[in-house]
Amino acid sequence: MDKKFIEESKKYLMNTYNRSPIVLRKGRGMKVWDSSGKEYLDFLAGIAVNCLGHCHPKVVIALQKQAQRLLHVSNLYHIEPQLDLAKLLVDNSFADKAFFCNSGTEAVEGAIKLARKYAKDHISPERHEIITCYGSFHGRTYGALSATAQEKLHEGFEPLVPGFIYVPFNDITALRKAVSKKTSAIMIEPIQGEGGIRMPSADYLQQVRELCDENKILLILDEIQTGAGRTGKLFAYEHFGITPDIMTLAKGLGGGAAIGAILATDSVAVSFEPGSHGSTFGGNPLACAAAAATIEALLEDGFILDNCLRIGQYFFNGLEKLKKDFSSSILEVRGLGLMLGLELTKAGGPIVESCAKRGILINCTSGNVLRFTPPLIIVEKEIDQLIDALEDIFERNL
Ligand SMILES: *Cc1c(COP(=O)(O)O)cnc(C)c1O
Repeated sequence: MDKKFIEESKKYLMNTYNRSPIVLRKGRGMKVWDSSGKEYLDFLAGIAVNCLGHCHPKVVIALQKQAQRLLHVSNLYHIEPQLDLAKLLVDNSFADKAFFCNSGTEAVEGAIKLARKYAKDHISPERHEIITCYGSFHGRTYGALSATAQEKLHEGFEPLVPGFIYVPFNDITALRKAVSKKTSAIMIEPIQGEGGIRMPSADYLQQVRELCDENKILLILDEIQTGAGRTGKLFAYEHFGITPDIMTLAKGLGGGAAIGAILATDSVAVSFEPGSHGSTFGGNPLACAAAAATIEALLEDGFILDNCLRIGQYFFNGLEKLKKDFSSSILEVRGLGLMLGLELTKAGGPIVESCAKRGILINCTSGNVLRFTPPLIIVEKEIDQLIDALEDIFERNL
């Protein structure tokens, strides 16, 4: 039955994803089930989206209640759940103002527009360039794609949006050299996600912040993957002793509902006026109700964030031990909280498949980096199951 379903899927849907031959039907917490009833432990969680696990009761109830009350009215009116969410984000971050959209790439588009407009309004009209890092991922629409410094993603889609300058990640000297009178902003992921879970070196982000301050350049942090508790703090910048001027969020923000956000300080946000930017569905009641419930749950007693840090360390140690035992297959363990990567000496695709056969969903990014972004409610026993499975796979195959 699945075979026919998958064939039809290929017939009717554009061929944009390398999908596993698995039809998922149901999820609860750490687990998902396919159409035959087979159970999986989900270490990908919708690519770092289901931060509270699948169908968390608080998110589901918030959605149900909101669905009965009001689905959509546009941003030409005030909407209660949108203000609730904005307050939660502003009260718990560097920011003074929020803007809501529907996805990560859209948040990046808005951040690019805001940075350019701010720099032109307040610094100098020739300031339009944005510097980004090789290996970054900022999204698939034209502005965000042009900001993404990965040539393989650009191929066939040129010409790109002008005004983006690329430098190596973790190279403050290169960044200093790239800054000019035309620079409006530097946009960075605090930890590169799609690029292979790459950590910033010690002091790098602080040096970037200083460079921005010295040159009146805005710092945009793309926390679409690292935000919403993923690294054990509500936002990853909290680990690094800096604050951005603009931050983008999406992925985990809605606990499974589609939503994106731009957060900014007041002094920057003033550059958006009525007519500058907008979105029909952005900040709609349903998405905001889900996101508000998600952020509330993440902040409650700090329990989930503490678990993320503690269990993230346990997970990291387990992967380190695996690396010691299989040093010919594993190059490095990287990451923070529950955003972890295992760099392999060869392509990770076959291991992803072997894990799926054993009822564990993981993902491979950047060709040879196994990526683990499980729900933040994961417990030790579930991590042990993954480590045992990987051990068995490495023992047999590699
Ligand atoms: C996933 C991701 C995006 C793009 O988000 P979409 O919702 O897929 O458009 C942008 N930046 C980062 C850091 C991401 O991880």
